[in-house]
Amino acid sequence: MRHTKVKDLLNSTTTLHEVNAKGWVRTFRNNQFIALNDGSTINNIQCVVDFENTPDETLRRVTTGAAVSVTGTLVESKGAGQKFEIQVTKLEILGDSDAEKFPMQPKKHSLEFLRENAHLRVRTNAFGAIMRVRSVLSFAVHSYFQEKGFVYVNTPIITGSDAEGAGEMFKVTALPFDGTPRTEDGKVNYKEDFFGKETNLTVSGQLEGETFAMALGQIYTFGPTFRAENSNTSRHLAEFWMIEPEVAFNDLNDNMDLAEDFIQYVIKYALDKCSEDLKFLEGRLLEEEKSKPQAERSEMALLDKLNFVLENNFKRVSYTEAIDILRDSTPNKKKKFNYIINEWGADLQSEHERYLVEKHFKCPVILFDYPANIKAFYMRLNDNTEPGRETVRAMDILFPGIGEIVGGSQREERFDVLVEKMKALGIDEEELWWYLDTRRFGSAVHSGFGLGFERLVLFVTGMTNIRDVIPFPRTPMNAEF
Ligand code: ATP
Ligand code: MN
Repeated sequence: MRHTKVKDLLNSTTTLHEVNAKGWVRTFRNNQFIALNDGSTINNIQCVVDFENTPDETLRRVTTGAAVSVTGTLVESKGAGQKFEIQVTKLEILGDSDAEKFPMQPKKHSLEFLRENAHLRVRTNAFGAIMRVRSVLSFAVHSYFQEKGFVYVNTPIITGSDAEGAGEMFKVTALPFDGTPRTEDGKVNYKEDFFGKETNLTVSGQLEGETFAMALGQIYTFGPTFRAENSNTSRHLAEFWMIEPEVAFNDLNDNMDLAEDFIQYVIKYALDKCSEDLKFLEGRLLEEEKSKPQAERSEMALLDKLNFVLENNFKRVSYTEAIDILRDSTPNKKKKFNYIINEWGADLQSEHERYLVEKHFKCPVILFDYPANIKAFYMRLNDNTEPGRETVRAMDILFPGIGEIVGGSQREERFDVLVEKMKALGIDEEELWWYLDTRRFGSAVHSGFGLGFERLVLFVTGMTNIRDVIPFPRTPMNAEF
């Protein structure tokens, strides 16, 4: 007999004879009530065991974490909290779980403990919910772009270009450590390596993505990205997933419109499809925040916060306006910031971004037109900027509790300006010959952005550490599993 998903059983419209469910025991009460979960929903189905007619030997094996198969009748539940339950006629233990040793006890565990047990934490309510929401969000990403006619592009994971400059890279090599081939001047001779040149894991698919946008019009990537940055923060992973749309003929305003519309769409999608999981996560957050001082608690409950983002436009603010706000802010005057903002040109730290979003505007903010010298070489230089105050058509989207969620720009489409910029920064033109070809042949205005998928999942689930929204996090000194 084929088993039915718990979700479908709980959503049944009628009672049913002879159903079978398979899953893992969450709890077993009074030798009678099994709370069974199979991952299809946050909800358990209650299975009522006829303990008088079940051998003790079997009952003893119904322990938290055990895999079981129950067959019986789906009846209306007399107990509170569920519409249906299974009156069990046949109980089978599929896989035992030693109650003494199983780490996921039916009690509250710290997030740190759960991280060390990432292979089992997904059996908890919170992580089951987070991972279902993550899955739905990733489908929403494809759904949004596919509906709009974007082409999904798989940019390379092993890249031969190291000029992107988005972050520290992981080397990819097949050379031996002992007896590494060297050139005459003692450097590693990559000519003898697998690819005959130096290669790395990608930090961004943007440059390759641009070449595709200049043929297919609207493209997006959605893939793993690697950064060997040694920043042990709650917002950085060494391996994360990035979504990078790139659109020909879009200027910076179009780019901001796209990013805003996209983020609102995927959040709406999650609200529609994951209401039970999100409600659970909202409760989890409330509970967690009870132990925090009032000032650190969120002003809004999770679902209100998500709806707020849907219903309100993101506030668009130029870098120059932001600097003025920050310079005049109380924490700046009282020297509460670690980095005091004195003058135009300063790079914004996350403390400044969070002040703007959480204290000043109290809504998502899009900062644009940043100083040219704190941004990447490929960003479009603004026309008519004062000498010494050159700005580029860059935009960052800042979210409450998260900080930067999107970084994007209109790209420099003018060959001469781009080459001059590369020269000034010492970026090898030869190396990026293929990238420059997009500007040599049929160049046009185009724009795109990168959104860190885990930062989006953080926001939607109300979690606070990025290690808790990816199945098996990779961070400095941690690559278990
Ligand atoms: P940050 O300043 O937060 O380190 P960044 O400026 O390095 O970000 P970009 O290079 O613009 O970020 O990358 C685009 C997006 O990718 C960011 O807006 C963010 O959402 C995400 N992102 C960047 N680095 C990481 C990381 N190490 N882990 C997870 N997401 C990241
Ligand atoms: Mn970074």
